[in-house]
Amino acid sequence: MFEEPATKKAKLDPTTMTEKDIISDYINKIKNSKSNLQAVLSDELSHTIETTKVYIASIKDKRNISKAIQVLNEKLPLNELSHLKRVRKNTILLCQSSTVNTSTIEEYIDSKLPELKDVFELFSEIDVPSQAPKLKRQYTEAMKMWSCNFHPDIYLEKLSGDHFFPEDELNLHRTFMAIAFEAAGWYLKSTVKEITGDLLQAVNSSVVVDPSINSVVAVSFDNRLRHPVQHTAMMAIDDVARTQDGGAWTRKTTCNDSELSGIDMDLLEHLRIKFPDTKFGAKKFTSKEENIENGEKENTGPYLCTNYYIYLLKEPCFMCSMALIHARVKRVFFCFENSEFGALKSKAKLHTVQSLNHHYEVFTGFL
Ligand SMILES: [Zn+2]
Repeated sequence: MFEEPATKKAKLDPTTMTEKDIISDYINKIKNSKSNLQAVLSDELSHTIETTKVYIASIKDKRNISKAIQVLNEKLPLNELSHLKRVRKNTILLCQSSTVNTSTIEEYIDSKLPELKDVFELFSEIDVPSQAPKLKRQYTEAMKMWSCNFHPDIYLEKLSGDHFFPEDELNLHRTFMAIAFEAAGWYLKSTVKEITGDLLQAVNSSVVVDPSINSVVAVSFDNRLRHPVQHTAMMAIDDVARTQDGGAWTRKTTCNDSELSGIDMDLLEHLRIKFPDTKFGAKKFTSKEENIENGEKENTGPYLCTNYYIYLLKEPCFMCSMALIHARVKRVFFCFENSEFGALKSKAKLHTVQSLNHHYEVFTGFL
């Protein structure tokens, strides 16, 4: 299964490649990728702007504009459409179409606003943006329909663009994802005896990084064949917990040094050879009691996955994505989409659910 092919082809053919070849092929592709990573944004940022129907009309005599606006704002306020301007040149936005309960808009205005009888002409119904634009691109699109208010958010603009990470930072992300692949290869070689079908069906791995020191804190694997909830992200959270004197699940070989206890000892040795420039190990953990003894008011050591990044081969499922929210991860990076169970892009975007009490950012686009 793990034998090298007798003759290596210049161009790798997936049908004859060994798993070692496949892994190194992915690592090369990731390291040589020229494109920036893409943030997975909420639907309201990534989809085209949604619309609703409104009635508009021209004002016959310009001198009546301010009176008309005053009466309209008082008697027919725009409420949820408050992002829209009431006037565009000589045209006035009267009301949302859904509020009109008479056969024509003219009748509706006459009955609701008798003081504005005969002020308008050329009534028509148009589409307008139903929500305030959040990005410049959406603002431009919205303005084609109707004038609206817009407050640009510099960070959001950058996040939704194609140049979010500078090149030096991108190289770090690519290296950490490459480590996830290298670890997957190591796992396959050392544990899985027979692989049938797609190689990456047999393994999912993850790398947790403390970006404040650019150091790998944990490297974990999917173990769901032996334990139904031991998906790689769940294992990663448990491995991080080990570096903080916790952890619930036992491992094969672990380091006595708690800073390095999130990574299997044999794998750590292997990764140190393959990635000599990468740092491994967590910041020293100090318990609450130790902090108090040292006269510190707050917990100064790492806490769960707060401010940590996690790199996963595959988009995590709902259970793992939720667990990463509970663990307070700051950013999630994944390589392959999981069309069946993925909760951060494919089936849902759990990180964009407003009602949750923690939100991480999600990035993909390594290949
Ligand atoms: Zn999972």
